[in-house]
Amino acid sequence: MAAEAPNLPAAAPEITETPDDVKANGRASAKKSNKKPAVNSTVKASDKLAKLGLRKDMDFALHLPMRYEDETSITSMHDASLRGGSTAQVEGVVTESDVQYRPRRQLVVTISDDSGQIVLRFLNFYGSQLKQMAVGVRVRARGELKHGFFGAEMVHPTYKIVNEGAPLATALTPVYPSGEGVPQSLLRKAIANALGRMHWRDTLSPARLAALGLPGIEESVRILHNPPPDIDQYSLIEHEHPAWQRVKFDELLAQQLSLKRAQITRRSKGANALPMVGELSNAFLLNLPFSLTGAQEKVLAEIRHDLRASYPMQRLLQGDVGSGKTIVAALAAAQAIDNGYQAALMAPTEILAEQHFRKIAAWLEPLGVKTAWLTGSLKKKEKDAANALISSGEAQLVIGTHALIQDTVQFKKLGLVIVDEQHRFGVSQRLNLANKAEQGKVPHQLMMSATPIPRTLAMTYFADLEVSVIDELPPGRTPIVTRVIDQNRRDEVIARVHAAAQEGKQVYWVCPLIEESETLQLQTATDTHIMLAAALPGIQVGLVHGRLKPAEKQQVMNDFIHNRSQVLVATTVIEVGVDVPNASLMVIEHAERFGLSQLHQLRGRVGRGAAASVCLLLYQGPLGGTAKQRLATMRESNDGFEIARKDLELRGPGEFLGARQSGEAMLRFANLETDQWLVEKARNLADDLLKNDPVTVAAHLERWLGNREEFLRV
Ligand code: ADP
Ligand code: MG
Repeated sequence: MAAEAPNLPAAAPEITETPDDVKANGRASAKKSNKKPAVNSTVKASDKLAKLGLRKDMDFALHLPMRYEDETSITSMHDASLRGGSTAQVEGVVTESDVQYRPRRQLVVTISDDSGQIVLRFLNFYGSQLKQMAVGVRVRARGELKHGFFGAEMVHPTYKIVNEGAPLATALTPVYPSGEGVPQSLLRKAIANALGRMHWRDTLSPARLAALGLPGIEESVRILHNPPPDIDQYSLIEHEHPAWQRVKFDELLAQQLSLKRAQITRRSKGANALPMVGELSNAFLLNLPFSLTGAQEKVLAEIRHDLRASYPMQRLLQGDVGSGKTIVAALAAAQAIDNGYQAALMAPTEILAEQHFRKIAAWLEPLGVKTAWLTGSLKKKEKDAANALISSGEAQLVIGTHALIQDTVQFKKLGLVIVDEQHRFGVSQRLNLANKAEQGKVPHQLMMSATPIPRTLAMTYFADLEVSVIDELPPGRTPIVTRVIDQNRRDEVIARVHAAAQEGKQVYWVCPLIEESETLQLQTATDTHIMLAAALPGIQVGLVHGRLKPAEKQQVMNDFIHNRSQVLVATTVIEVGVDVPNASLMVIEHAERFGLSQLHQLRGRVGRGAAASVCLLLYQGPLGGTAKQRLATMRESNDGFEIARKDLELRGPGEFLGARQSGEAMLRFANLETDQWLVEKARNLADDLLKNDPVTVAAHLERWLGNREEFLRV
């Protein structure tokens, strides 16, 4: 065998629009390569495959089918014509073959068998295809059936020219994830070549496999690429077959190993222990106007315990909107300060950072704590002053936005980093802040999130973090009532807002999200403000959006906080963290455009005081299926965990977490909904291997992650 890896055909076969048909003419096209359209043929096949991440034999072996096609039987055209919408394989002789020009240039081929006929329609085609499907030729075609004007038809079916009685596939045909200009035939061949060359060593011993009840990896991979005819097709297609389970298990194991190893590395770096719960912490607790909830006590104990250690805390504090995370963060900061260290709190928006500053400073400054405030919008002079306080160590508590992670910011003795609404930050931003401790040390880190991460997800993607959960709201809250209302009834909604404002309640009115255009979004907010101000005589209506200058923004927010305005028209800048307990009515326009967690966050701006709160979700019909489900979920549930679970179900983990956090496509095969039991097993085995079997750990990670592990280490 040649030393250089994949043994591949030199150029891509010709018909890119219908990649599968190269099964039919792949051999012929290699000879007729001078007739090929020049577009893709200049790029070497191996380069195209490399672009899909396929370089080494193992890459090919683990490039598993995304689905299977059933080419084991032929449907009669009569039956096929009754089955619109489904996929079928038919075979017949060409009775007509034309290029038609109306409504646009297309190749239309009619084939028939004893029972009827079917039209094959190609909107993009090559001259060679017209010749290939000449009248009298026998064609086997596979595709989705539609009812066209002239009866049953298939648009862009995969097809091949066959002789009468040509054998059918005896097993399911794998279909691989692919990219532009990479036909299935090329993938199949390259994978078969790789499998032919490979010598496998299972990373798991026979004893371990027996205990887990899983088959060997080589056997599993071969089955998935070439399913035997007698395989249970259902379990193969549904990814439940033991061969799939083995692959999924391996993938989950790699993820667990990688995350846990990253955690071990981090721990080895060391942090300054912050053991003392001293004067400041105690005075602060005594001065609180309320007592902590049981859940707050519990998570505080967990955090205090971590801060005593001489390796860095990595804790994710989850709690539904309004569960009272801020106070817990402030208490953690107090402990750092008690021990003579600085604490930094970073928030994703200026409004939120400002609010934290206002609140936490009001709690801590009277107790003698020096604070500093740093955001991007400060004037140069103010920034310099803040930086001086931070680098001299005079500022014990520093609160701000992304500005905190800039190179110019130097801490004297950073002991604790708190990141609020951590899902709004990328991994690297969090780490930048974490790198600001003294040489060789890592600060303790507390990440806070109101987007509760369902348990399975936390166990997989956040296997390297400790998780604390505030699972209880402060007493005296009444659940928010949510109504879903047609946009047509806006006038009624305005009347309701009017009545509420007159009763002394405060109202948020959230303008629609217009992702394509910030300008348009701004315009809408401004228009809405004018409209509401006119419709609500005697009521003060404020307007806040992202383009306001910080001072203006602050003015508007202050007016609302102090009830000088009763209605606040806002863009999503108020989404996270804003806390005005007297607000009890929330109107969200075009709610169908928002994601579930965003709606939940927005709604969480009300229901923070004792008054019963209402959230009105205005929508513009007709609603798509997912939008309908989102709104129904919002109406039915106030529970952030339940909503997060639903959100995960609707969007999948990649989008749910944001690519930057999820380690992008880390899990290609495992499904967190259905494979929970595998997750648990993988987790246990990962612990065992890390303790006892470093050789296997290394081999397994190399196989499954290769160079991708770097990503996770950040
Ligand atoms: P979130 O978890 O969404 O960040 P906050 O920390 O903003 O929530 O808290 C929401 C509100 O609840 C604040 O007004 C806060 O002062 C109040 N709060 C927090 N803890 C308690 C408690 N134990 N008892 C009463 N009110 C509390
Ligand atoms: Mg908060």
